[in-house]
Amino acid sequence: MKPIPVNVPKLDGNEVKYLKEAIESGWISSEGPFVNKFEQQCAERHGRKYAIAVSSGTAALKCSIDALDLSAKDEVIIPSFTIISCVTAVLESGATPILVDCDPKTFNSSPEQIISAITPRTKAIMLVHIYGLPVDADPVLQIAKERDIIVIEDAAETIGLKYKNRPCGSIGDVSTFSFYPNKHITTGEGGMVLTDDDQIAERCIGARNLCFNKSRRFRHDRIGWNFRMTNIQAAIGLAQLESLDQTISRKHWIGKQYNKLLENCPCVQLPLPETYYAKNIYWVYPLVLKNCSSMNATDVMAKLDALKIGTRPFFYPMHKQPVFHKMGLFNNQSLKNSEQLAEKGFYIPAGIGISEEEIQKVAKSLIEILNS
Ligand SMILES: *Cc1c(COP(=O)(O)O)cnc(C)c1O
Repeated sequence: MKPIPVNVPKLDGNEVKYLKEAIESGWISSEGPFVNKFEQQCAERHGRKYAIAVSSGTAALKCSIDALDLSAKDEVIIPSFTIISCVTAVLESGATPILVDCDPKTFNSSPEQIISAITPRTKAIMLVHIYGLPVDADPVLQIAKERDIIVIEDAAETIGLKYKNRPCGSIGDVSTFSFYPNKHITTGEGGMVLTDDDQIAERCIGARNLCFNKSRRFRHDRIGWNFRMTNIQAAIGLAQLESLDQTISRKHWIGKQYNKLLENCPCVQLPLPETYYAKNIYWVYPLVLKNCSSMNATDVMAKLDALKIGTRPFFYPMHKQPVFHKMGLFNNQSLKNSEQLAEKGFYIPAGIGISEEEIQKVAKSLIEILNS
C-alpha cells in the first residue's frame, strides 16, 4: 500500500520557470531580484507597507521581537498552545513570557483569556492563529490600542485566510509568516515579517543581515543574524504566492471532504467549519478524541501509522516543556484546555497535494479504528 504522508506540497505553477530564471541569471544569493519581487507582492497582497523576507518563520518571530527593544520588566502574552519559536523569541529578547490557555473548540486563545492576563507591565501581545482559524482579534486590538500595547501576529498557519474582511498578516503591528512546506506558501524553508512601521521594518532589515552599519560595512552597532532568504527560495515563493487563491480553495475543499466523510465518526471532535469572524482554512485537519473514546491520540496515531497513514500530534503546551522547567519557568502553571488537547489531539493528511482517493482512504481507516 502506498504511504499517505501527513503533508505533500504542490509546486506545479511557475516554480520551475522562475527557478530556471534564477539559476540561468547566476543570481542565487539573497541579493537576487526575486527576493524584492516576492517581498513587494507579499506586501501588496496583504496591504502592508513592508514585507521582509527571512530564512524561516522562527527567524521572522525573532527579528520582530528583537525590533521591539523589550526589557526584563516587560511582559509578553503568548498562547501556551503553540510552537516553541514564539516563546524562545521572547525569552531571547530578555522579556517575560506570560502564557495563556486556549479555547478547546477553536484551539486559539480567546479574547477573554488574553485580556485577563494583561497587567500594567504588559508590553506586547502575541496573537497566534492556530490550525486554520484566526484569533478573534478585534476585542484584543481595541484594548491594546487603549493601553499602548504592541500586537505581534503569528500568521504562519493562516496565510490566505481572512479575519472578518482583513487578511491574516495585516492585523498585527508586526506580523509573521512561515514558508515551511506545510504552510500555504512554501519556499522549502523561509519566512516573512510584515509591518507598516518604519522603525520596526528598519530594525528587521538590519537584524536579518548581521546589522551591518549602513555607512560602514563590517561595523556593527547592534547584534544581528544571518536570516537572509536566497533568490532561489524567493523564486519558488513568488510562484507559490501566485497560486495562493487556488491553494486556499483546495484547502477548503479538502476540509469539506473530511467533514462529510467523518460526520458520523464516533467519539471524535471535528474542526469547526466556521465562526462568526472567519471560515476555517483547514491548515491541518485537526481531530480531538472525546471522553467516550477509550483511546488517546497516541493509540490512534500508531494504528494509522501501521496503515502507512501519516499523522502529527497536537502541540505540546509551552507551560509543560521540560526545557523551560529546567530554566525555572512555568513550573506550577496549569492550563487545562491546552493539556487536554495535547493528549487527545492529532491531525491527519490534508496537505495541498492530497488526492480525493487518499482522503477517502484516510477517512475509512480512521472510522474503522475508532469503531474497533
Ligand atoms: C510553522 C510555524 C512557525 C515556525 O516556522 P518555521 O518556518 O518552521 O521556523 C511559527 N509559528 C507557527 C504558528 C507555526 O505554525
